[in-house]
Amino acid sequence: MRITMIGSGYVGLVSGACFADFGHEVTCVDLDAEKISSLKAGQIPIFEPGLETLVATNAASGRLCFTTDLTAAVGIADVVFLAVGTPSRRGDGHADLSYVYAAAADIARAVQGFTVIVTKSTVPVGTGDEVERIVRSVNPHADVVVVSNPEFLREGAAIEDFKRPDRIVIGLDDERARAIMDEVYRPLYLNQAPIMYTGRRTAELIKYAGNAFLAMKITFINEVADLCEKTGGNVQDVARGIGLDKRIGSKFLNAGPGYGGSCFPKDTLALVKTGQDHDTPLRLVEATVAINAQRKRSMGRKVIAACGGDVRGKQIGILGLTFKPNTDDMRDAPSIAVIQTLIDAGAKVKAFDPEGMEIAKTMISGIDYAEDAYDAAADADCLVLITEWNAFRSLDLERLKSVMAKPSMVDLRNVYRGADLEAAGFDYSSVGRPAAATMSERSDEAAE
Ligand code: NAD
Repeated sequence: MRITMIGSGYVGLVSGACFADFGHEVTCVDLDAEKISSLKAGQIPIFEPGLETLVATNAASGRLCFTTDLTAAVGIADVVFLAVGTPSRRGDGHADLSYVYAAAADIARAVQGFTVIVTKSTVPVGTGDEVERIVRSVNPHADVVVVSNPEFLREGAAIEDFKRPDRIVIGLDDERARAIMDEVYRPLYLNQAPIMYTGRRTAELIKYAGNAFLAMKITFINEVADLCEKTGGNVQDVARGIGLDKRIGSKFLNAGPGYGGSCFPKDTLALVKTGQDHDTPLRLVEATVAINAQRKRSMGRKVIAACGGDVRGKQIGILGLTFKPNTDDMRDAPSIAVIQTLIDAGAKVKAFDPEGMEIAKTMISGIDYAEDAYDAAADADCLVLITEWNAFRSLDLERLKSVMAKPSMVDLRNVYRGADLEAAGFDYSSVGRPAAATMSERSDEAAE
């Protein structure tokens, strides 16, 4: 099967490399000539574990290649995937579909013979209809079927997710397209990944409903964490206690600084707008968006409170900038709002992240960037753990203490045990857990 991937970002590059690994012939296209020349030179423009090797192996085998020439790549394809960005539209929060529509018109001009156009980008319900309308108006003779195949991979575990997905959702109502999509995903079918065929509009809705549900789950446990703080409960125990109920499940119940990243913030917002447009407000999602937006800055205020209510002139060390570990993605990372709140209150900030600093430097100004975790902690009045990279999980507490102005840590990911930090002489606060001194009992989870 000859596959062309339009857009070679996190989703396009991972999907393209995985499809090539399944044995398909894949061409990844991007408008960004610099990105394509790096890829041709074997350099991966993003940080994603395992991707460099996967790309190198499949490029060497001749099954994976890169180009800026969309016309040629589409002309030879049986299947063209759209994996371009759908960011929030400036001003109103709707999904910005300009990249999708522009690519659809380019594809329409370039198709040769029967071609399946598959939208992998996350797009609001009805976008497939509009893509089809654009293709037909640009090239009325094009023999195409437009299919929806939303992507559910997570950055940081993207290859594993793509190769062993919980499910594959394909929205179409055309038998020729179904035969092609069966062929595209045959290797995963052999791996027994559930493939769900549904209508195109339903497939589009599944993606948003899934992301909104996960964002609500995170937001729910964050509010429970706040209640735990006020009442002396332990949110990790509450999460475990409810998560063991199979109807609830234990994932996405880690209290923290609010969800961020390239998907949840924009997708929840876009779903809210879709609901409003159809006179069907999704009030739970609206509340989720509002609560999460406030939470990020409230985590900044939590740090200020831990510093005695005033951070003017104080030095704050930050551990972790990316929205989660194992990615360099900084889009909508909670660190941005937390740091801004601290800067607004007069703090001096020095931050370290294992992979995100290059991008962070283009997004967060007015702070210093450190060489490593201990450099971030040097002379700090407080150290704030924002992203739970493995490198931050077992820091040398004595060494930290020796370099800090004051041994104090705010752990926004509940990585450490309060008892250990307090035994090492730190003032320690975390999210939704009682201070070690007042802990009446230690949870099994914390003891593991
Ligand atoms: P990205 O910004 O990393 O990549 C998009 C790429 O498309 C860019 O390299 C851009 O230059 C390129 N592009 C834009 N217009 C183009 C055109 N006309 N021709 C060729 N290339 C073009 O975005 P991403 O994170 O890969 O996300 C892509 C889509 O997948 C979005 O809709 C997103 O919501 C969805 N998604 C993302 C993730 C994730 O974890 N990143 C997961 C699931 C779904």
